[in-house]
Amino acid sequence: MEKLGLLRDIDFALHLPLRYEDETRITPISEAHEGENVQCEGEVMECRVDQRGRRVLIVRIQDDSDELLLRFIHFYPSHQKTLAVGKRVRVRGEIRHGFFGREMVHPQFKAVQEDTPLAASLTPVYPASASLPQAYLRKAVAAGLKRADLRELLPPGVVPAKLPSLRDALNYLHHPPPQAQLSTLEDHSHPAWQRLKFEELLAQQLSQIQAQRERALLHAPALRAQPGGLVERLLAALPFGLTGAQQRVSEEIAQDLALPHPSLPARDAGSPSPGGEASSGGFLALAQPMHRLLQGDVGSGKTVVAALAAAVAIDAGWQCALMAPTEILAEQHFKKLIGWLEPLGLKVAWLTGSVKGKARQKMLDAAADGSAHLVIGTHAVIEDKVKFAKLGLAIIDEQHRFGVAQRLALRKKLASMELEPHMLMMSATPIPRTLAMTYFADLAVSTIDELPPGRSPIVTKVFADAKRWNVIEKIQEEVARGAQVYWVCPLIEESEAMDLSNATETHAELSAALEGYSVGLLHGRMAPAEKAAVMAQFSGGEMKLLVATTVIEVGVDVPNASLMVIEHAERFGLSQLHQLRGRVGRGAKASVCVLLYTGPLSQTGKDRLRAMAETNDGFEIARRDLDIRGPGEFMGSRQSGAELLRFADLQEDSVLLQAARRLAPMLLDQHPDAAHKQVARWLGSKAEFLKA
Ligand code: ADP
Ligand code: MG
Repeated sequence: MEKLGLLRDIDFALHLPLRYEDETRITPISEAHEGENVQCEGEVMECRVDQRGRRVLIVRIQDDSDELLLRFIHFYPSHQKTLAVGKRVRVRGEIRHGFFGREMVHPQFKAVQEDTPLAASLTPVYPASASLPQAYLRKAVAAGLKRADLRELLPPGVVPAKLPSLRDALNYLHHPPPQAQLSTLEDHSHPAWQRLKFEELLAQQLSQIQAQRERALLHAPALRAQPGGLVERLLAALPFGLTGAQQRVSEEIAQDLALPHPSLPARDAGSPSPGGEASSGGFLALAQPMHRLLQGDVGSGKTVVAALAAAVAIDAGWQCALMAPTEILAEQHFKKLIGWLEPLGLKVAWLTGSVKGKARQKMLDAAADGSAHLVIGTHAVIEDKVKFAKLGLAIIDEQHRFGVAQRLALRKKLASMELEPHMLMMSATPIPRTLAMTYFADLAVSTIDELPPGRSPIVTKVFADAKRWNVIEKIQEEVARGAQVYWVCPLIEESEAMDLSNATETHAELSAALEGYSVGLLHGRMAPAEKAAVMAQFSGGEMKLLVATTVIEVGVDVPNASLMVIEHAERFGLSQLHQLRGRVGRGAKASVCVLLYTGPLSQTGKDRLRAMAETNDGFEIARRDLDIRGPGEFMGSRQSGAELLRFADLQEDSVLLQAARRLAPMLLDQHPDAAHKQVARWLGSKAEFLKA
């Protein structure tokens, strides 16, 4: 039960049935039709084990109207005892057409007397697990429902009209009366369901606003770029001009960083800056910590925006940290940023799991004494040993790949003076608007909605694996014309070894097909130095084809690569496919992405591949991903704090969502106690997750 999240009485009360079984009536056998799920009652006329072939227990029962055959392929001696000739039984199941007429296979059954009463309400069937019997769970839920505190928390008049009280709604949903309309219970349109969804959405909105208000009480150093300072020098040194979208989001970020804290005068005379040196006339200006998501499609140029934000922080006398989910990605950032920032006299440190010994100690010292302006790395950046003298800005790339705890840990890296660093999170998986409104009410969002100039759109083609050789022939032509090609093999999660052998086989096959050309292999088991060497050959252009497992998923940037083949595309998630595809189409050359699949495809698999073929737009992909998977999975439980919406559907229940959004601020202001209880009732300990 703990695994199902069932701990408190209220958790049981909110554990709602998946469906119901009707034990409130008896159908005469003559009126029980094929395909119907019914309950019948009768006397056992025959009970025998058929020994021909497989042992089967055959039972014949009879009521006043007709006879019915029951068939059990698995059975125990206890079956024969309860179903012995002359016993009266109630059986429940689907009527099927059998060899001897209508029958039930493996029905539910129980011994009854003439006067055994029928159930007074429909019987709930709960989400359970293999080791948790329904009957046991039913009792536990009924007990929890009875004990749970279901008092009305909301002031009169605020619940949308015609919705029952929470107590009535729950009693109804757990034990619907015999005449209940099953269809409205199953599609969740019944007012009792509506009430529940409203409650849930309200709790979720309340917790968001609460988190927002708590954040507003925190302080961060105000970071302002100096005129003629680092930011301007960086812009002047870049080999390209910013796109309009990059300019806009950079300004949004700069504004957040500099914005004086609303609760304080612009200069707080009481707080000297932590490093002791003057940041603005000897006093530390305070701001509200930024909590901003920078979203932009793959290749839209987020890195340079991050570099500019870092330049603002460094210019203001503070340090910056950049954390990326993989070593390859961190390294790409490191190379790019060092190229941009070192010529400006900045010191960039590098910290990953593979940096060890003396080198590691040097990096740790540089972070701790403040001499490193920017620290780039993987999860290694948030380890306990890592201390920063003056962390002003923390940037997280591919933020959805990190958990809540990791984001919190990064925030805690500025331990001095009860200050928090500003947070900039970056993602190539945009959050659809409905999700942004609900899960991320507490997050400011900047969107890069424009690609740098000179990119040509990618054409995506979907082929069955039977066409593999046609694809390889196409690769031969393209490579002969000077193109570079990625070939991506899937990650088979259960077995890294199998994953590798697949990639190795494919590598051999393609090496043979491309005689005379250099064909490389990149996979997760290689040492960082080996990976780097392969990447360097591919970026340099001497390697023409790179066979890779998904280690190239994020961040790799080789503009001359114009063809990508993804093998077993059906095994990838939609956003992962889109990210992979973003590795091509980075140069001026028209690019092609080939998705090879091995059938049969599931409906979801078909939907995903179709979405890929139909659009290149990351926002549209994200929207479809949300449609295909639903919000819980879309967010990943690590990110959402375990699927916060169990009942409500953001799209279907938008009317209720709007009502909850209107009500939440008023409730917090005028009935803070009720608001607090509402959040606790629904979210319990999960509420903490929303704050990260
Ligand atoms: P992503 O948003 O996927 O992280 P990157 O920051 O890696 O994208 O940028 C993709 C490529 O586009 C890089 O090679 C980068 O140098 C280049 N780039 C970024 N901004 C511009 C621009 N305004 N004009 C031209 N090229 C740009
Ligand atoms: Mg990137």
